[in-house]
Amino acid sequence: MSDATTKPMDDIMSLCKRRGFVYQASEIYGGINGFWDYGPLGAQLKKNLRDAWWEDMIMNPCWGRTGPGGERVRCVPVETCIIQNPKVWEASGHVGGFNDPMVDDKETKQRFRADHLQGGYLGSSPAGDPALALAQMQGQITKVEHIPAFTITAGGPDEAAAILLADRKLQKLLGVSDANILPSISPGAAPLLQLTYRGQPAFAFIFPVSGAVQEHAHAQIPSPFTGKAGSLTAPRQFNLMFFTYTGATATENDKVYLRPETAQGIFVQFKNVVDTTRVRVPFGIGNTGRSFRNEVTPRNFTFRSREFEQAELEFFCHPDDSFEWYKFWRDFRMEWWQSIGLAGENLILREHEKDELSHYSTGTSDVEYRFPFTAPGFGELEGIAHRGNYDLTQHAKHSGAKLEYFDTDRGETLPNGAKKGERYMPHCIEPAAGLDRGALALICEAYTRDESRPSPEIMKFHPRVAPIKAAVFPLVNKDGMPEVADRLHADLFKRFGRTGFVETDAKQSIGKRYARMDEAGCPFCFTIDGDTLTDQTVTVRSRDTGLQDRIAIDKVSAFLTDALLA
Ligand code: ATP
Repeated sequence: MSDATTKPMDDIMSLCKRRGFVYQASEIYGGINGFWDYGPLGAQLKKNLRDAWWEDMIMNPCWGRTGPGGERVRCVPVETCIIQNPKVWEASGHVGGFNDPMVDDKETKQRFRADHLQGGYLGSSPAGDPALALAQMQGQITKVEHIPAFTITAGGPDEAAAILLADRKLQKLLGVSDANILPSISPGAAPLLQLTYRGQPAFAFIFPVSGAVQEHAHAQIPSPFTGKAGSLTAPRQFNLMFFTYTGATATENDKVYLRPETAQGIFVQFKNVVDTTRVRVPFGIGNTGRSFRNEVTPRNFTFRSREFEQAELEFFCHPDDSFEWYKFWRDFRMEWWQSIGLAGENLILREHEKDELSHYSTGTSDVEYRFPFTAPGFGELEGIAHRGNYDLTQHAKHSGAKLEYFDTDRGETLPNGAKKGERYMPHCIEPAAGLDRGALALICEAYTRDESRPSPEIMKFHPRVAPIKAAVFPLVNKDGMPEVADRLHADLFKRFGRTGFVETDAKQSIGKRYARMDEAGCPFCFTIDGDTLTDQTVTVRSRDTGLQDRIAIDKVSAFLTDALLA
């Protein structure tokens, strides 16, 4: 697969619209910021992703592997409500603390997350040595009196550099021209640009503008939208929870929230699951569904939306075993994303630094994908967090319910050979994935251009997630070919139709029909032609190679089974 940095996001988005993967929500009314709908192919792609998660996390967790204790991993599902008793969100900390610091530009009325403000800091070196210029800058960058020459809003410095380089209009607005990116001085160092700023040659380093600088010197910071200082407010906390009212009176007492994550539904049903099923710690509870966050700046297509879908698991275990389980889940989740097609160097597992961890977490890792809009940096697909016993303890405290677990397999051994038992609050490992970001990563990874083909855009989806599994075409719509095609189509549909479309299409030239299937990501097309009627063979054409072969019509089903499993 080609490098994400070479994939143009605009082309990917236009293919998504053209072929019915993703549409703007309420498009005929001008859309609504932060909301996206899936068309037929996108809906099936996302269903395949959700099903793959469900199969590999709930039905046959971790592909039947054993965990650190040598036992098979066991998990069960729940499906919990979007609206819960508001006390759930007080206990979880979301009502009090689920805030993003936000900045307004008073002139353009635009709003963005303060931690997304990236500064272009200028540096110079008499000898023209960028490393010296950077060293000179580094000591000054976080001082409150050190104001960037220009700013850009982006998820990180790499993304900001990419935006600046690609957008001539923005360059003009910010007073920048002749900008080039220089090779990185050291891994993880700030992106380094050589440019002309307001007519003067300079080096520019892109660093996040620190909270302290924004707090104290916001009036001097140039706006990312106008390039001029004086219009930005200091950061203010903004709660990301959507709310509404239950019942007709709509008083403050009727206020309820739309869930910002599916995980809390699991914690509040933990006791019911333990009491009504035969699960024993260690075990996991999975939950999938829509979550809502009133994101300050929805951006980057479906990556940061206000309504999105999550697939979360809480794995409950004994405190002594929890770190081993954390490592187990972290590694499995990385392997899982690789198994559905994100196998190249666009995927990384990033362990958080100590200072990034929540106060209750002893370890967190993110599975990150290099999206075209984050490249050369990465964006989070899933977080795997060791959450200790924080959530159960909070809910026990706020609800008064006893959420401790009595483990009959632990404690000292009694004279009769049984265990005395041990009461404890289980610790929790949380792999929390986003299905929309997952689907977007699959789309970006699949997008391939092959200029040697008549129609160069090909979606090379992994067969497991491909929304169309196969297509059957009569070469011409006569001479008995449509009837044979219909029979093969019905047969393939019976076998493969549960996991994707099986298409048939008799219109247009065969080349155009292949091209349509390439853009939709269908791995194989089968064509019925004149020879089929005499020798019972069909042409099989592969999406990835464009090559054609002939196989017996009664072997098509077995061929496809092997090919889709491969
Ligand atoms: P970010 O730092 O990007 O805001 P997060 O760390 O707050 O994400 P989590 O609370 O860990 O995200 O949620 C788990 C997963 O849910 C994320 O890894 C992501 O895939 C998905 N997710 C979170 N927020 C959004 C969003 N606004 N749009 C789409 N997916 C999201």
